[in-house]
Amino acid sequence: MAAEVKTTCPYCGVGCGVIATVDEAGAVSVKGDPEHPSNFGRLCSKGSALAETIDLDGRLLYPEIEGERSGWDEALDLVARRFSETIAEYGPDSVAFYVSGQLLTEDYYVANKLMKGFIGSGNIDTNSRLCMSSSVAGHRRAFGADTVPGTYEDIELADLVVLTGSNLAWCHPVIYQRLAAAKMARPNMRIVVIDPRRTMTCDIADLHLAIRPDGDVALFMGLLAHLATSPAIDQNYIGAHTDGFGDAFAAAAALDINDLLERTGLPAMQIREFFRLFETTPKVVTCYSQGVNQSSSGTDKVNAILNCHLATGRIGRPGMGPFSLTGQPNAMGGREVGGLANMLAAHMAIENTEDRDRVQRFWDSPVIAAKPGLKAVDMFQAVADGRIKALWIMATNPVVSMPDADSVENAIAACPFVVVSDILKETDTTRHANVLLPSLGWGEKDGTVTNSERRISRQRSFLDIPGDARADWWQLAEIGRRMGFAAAFDFDAPAAIFAEHAALSAFENNGSRDFDIGARAGMSGGAYDELSPFQWPQAAGTEPSITRFFAEGGFFHPDRKARFVAVKPPATDRTNAEYPFTLNTGRIRDQWHTMTRTGKSARLSAHIAEPFAEIHPRDAIETGISSAGLVEIDSPHGKAIVRALVTDRQARGGIFAPMHWNDQFAARARIDAVVAPVTDPISGQPASKNVAVAVRPF
Ligand code: SF4
Repeated sequence: MAAEVKTTCPYCGVGCGVIATVDEAGAVSVKGDPEHPSNFGRLCSKGSALAETIDLDGRLLYPEIEGERSGWDEALDLVARRFSETIAEYGPDSVAFYVSGQLLTEDYYVANKLMKGFIGSGNIDTNSRLCMSSSVAGHRRAFGADTVPGTYEDIELADLVVLTGSNLAWCHPVIYQRLAAAKMARPNMRIVVIDPRRTMTCDIADLHLAIRPDGDVALFMGLLAHLATSPAIDQNYIGAHTDGFGDAFAAAAALDINDLLERTGLPAMQIREFFRLFETTPKVVTCYSQGVNQSSSGTDKVNAILNCHLATGRIGRPGMGPFSLTGQPNAMGGREVGGLANMLAAHMAIENTEDRDRVQRFWDSPVIAAKPGLKAVDMFQAVADGRIKALWIMATNPVVSMPDADSVENAIAACPFVVVSDILKETDTTRHANVLLPSLGWGEKDGTVTNSERRISRQRSFLDIPGDARADWWQLAEIGRRMGFAAAFDFDAPAAIFAEHAALSAFENNGSRDFDIGARAGMSGGAYDELSPFQWPQAAGTEPSITRFFAEGGFFHPDRKARFVAVKPPATDRTNAEYPFTLNTGRIRDQWHTMTRTGKSARLSAHIAEPFAEIHPRDAIETGISSAGLVEIDSPHGKAIVRALVTDRQARGGIFAPMHWNDQFAARARIDAVVAPVTDPISGQPASKNVAVAVRPF
């Protein structure tokens, strides 16, 4: 009798429900879960191919020390001893964890608790820094907390959907399917895509604004100035629920029309049409993703968007609101437990003395991180400088995915002690580990993830545990025990961790904090096994329901008002005579991150088989690049060699290259070796969409 298990897709932030079936011969098949409220049975190509990516080929099955197989006790004792010795000699900030949006919430919770509450450093950061930290920073500035106000349903209910910096069709395919179906049912729905490239998402757009890289701040400043003098302005909402409108409006109004045209590179007619649509359509949702976040002005871009929704009171109502589309399966869950270097657990603020005291009392911990830790780019710089002497990397492959990837590789290689927890034995990062710890993969591990609409779902195991692999939370708890904190890390199962996480979210929370899942605080293991997907918040004594924030104010600044932010348009052009092109990196439809899993599926690789760079036909002629010829892309930081894809989908002066390929799939194809380690000054998120490069035939 085949067994069916309800679980969740481990790839993008849509968080689709999956039914996995294991037949009597042990063969696995997957299908969409028709009862999951985020996807209603839909899956994209990556989700549909999950069963093709779970074989044991290449798996890391046993702990290793310096390349030799070891037992768990030996490996864990060594890790605990080296971290303890390093902390004793150089202090808590000499060690760091670099974790991942691929971790489950329970793994993330234990990692954060160990680093911030027991080691006493803020040095835990995550690849989510590369993904959505500008949205976190923008939300915190405007709302007083990292709160996504709406739900996926709002995208279907809107009469106007603005997609800015989002290739929804490839990066969040099931949301794209839901949007396309809604537009089919209601042809009067309007869709505007703001993107330098004419992506597949533009196939359903009524208006495509091929904006200059980083022109978005100016565009939304212009929109705010326009709305302020139109009937769409909601003075009642502004007066009752916000602060700072005057300064934000003054900054926006100071941008003259010529400046707006220059910075956006858009025709005046298109800008007018966009402003008219936004002004005259009350039910508007603005979705934003990495094209907004991965920028040296990412936080200002987010706030420029939020300003427009606050000014019109279009927030937290059905079919209205700003909507951050998260890249990874559990970037939201990681945020909820404080997985970023500048956050505390349960959305509390590390800079806030009361919050630090509250978390420390709840954990009964000997110490609490007194300040934010190092964000990803700074963390690897500290590894390079020798300030960080012991590093634990979990569930991520920074040698491929970090900007300035060659320097990151050199830093890791030179670090005195590196631990890597992974499911694979050989990645570009594992080759530099002193200790390798085998983790559980999708289908083997148990826990929860939170998707872009704040919906918490279970990932459930349905496969036997291979070799000596163990859950990441277990590895962390064992290190906590061995470092002398046995009572605090006495977890026997993920259910116990989730129950503690839920209790912390409700601890001394009288509604002044956004994240509260206190209704789950006393949850038993059985109830955890049965957990159905639900949206937060769910305070004690409440039932699961569709949740939205801020229709009637209730923001999380002390005065419960939102803040407008007076943003400034950034410099948009980083090019020069030596590096005259703008590189924009991103995802393709059928691969995930550094391809360590999706690269196993022949079906997925059939979509696009090789790394490539899109270049406009006239730029190709002028640089002597021929269609399908090899090209070299270089910057002061590194080189990559990929195949030219000559297409007028790409605007002149720019090239697009996917982020996925690594040296195991194609020699010198790591595009992040080319990306400069430039970051947003507030969020610390790297600017992967606007990199000055040269491109030439190889
Ligand atoms: Fe998985 Fe995202 Fe595809 Fe859904 S849309 S099946 S979560 S990759």
